[in-house]
Amino acid sequence: MLVPIDLHNHSCLSPCGDDDFTPSLLAVEAMEQGIEILALTDHNCARNLPAFAEACELCCILPLFGLEVTTSEEVHVLTLFPKLEDALEFGSFVEFLLSPIKNDRRLFGRQLVVNLEGEVQEEVETMLAFATSLPFSDVVEEALSRDALVIPAHIDRFANSALANLGFLPDLPYSALEAIHPPVHADTHDLVVLTGSDAHTLEQVGRRTCSLEMHDCSYESLKNALAKRNEVSYRS
Ligand SMILES: [Zn+2]
Ligand SMILES: [Zn+2]
Repeated sequence: MLVPIDLHNHSCLSPCGDDDFTPSLLAVEAMEQGIEILALTDHNCARNLPAFAEACELCCILPLFGLEVTTSEEVHVLTLFPKLEDALEFGSFVEFLLSPIKNDRRLFGRQLVVNLEGEVQEEVETMLAFATSLPFSDVVEEALSRDALVIPAHIDRFANSALANLGFLPDLPYSALEAIHPPVHADTHDLVVLTGSDAHTLEQVGRRTCSLEMHDCSYESLKNALAKRNEVSYRS
């Protein structure tokens, strides 16, 4: 079966995300667009994932609990966990590796932790979108050792991507790659190349999704489909 997936989305916790863009709204909009596996991947922080878990359960969507980690070279890497607790633990680890620079909310926007209803629970003060102190290869290794899916983000982008910032894609055991406009004119190591919305506003949900040939709609099947390089089709 072809399963529609979207593994790259932000929320009001990301400084560049709309303040009104809550995890619940993300889940509801994705459900209405027929997405069956959905990830929330805020920059270097996991604190909106508990609300996302509740929302996905209500929407009957399979959630992946993610972070978009910024490496010390300013490369973005998607790290996706099947279990909320593992993502929260990794999130604490990643936040600890951020420089203690205070967010300038007038310049970058607010960083809001919300509950299922969208009520603000706290505002994160440390700037979340800057680089962590962890190099690219260490981010990949750390996340894989915690059984996450690891996907270098938007590899065809001219900033914050492995190809742009490192000049090449290091030969590491990624789960897949993500591109804005596949196919990518570079060595993709025969990996599945996915697209994701990278939504920062409600209107951007579903703007780039893809469907993957899978046995059923489960995390194990997703992992197997990526490992077996199953067919992917793009929807834009
Ligand atoms: Zn990014
Ligand atoms: Zn992103």
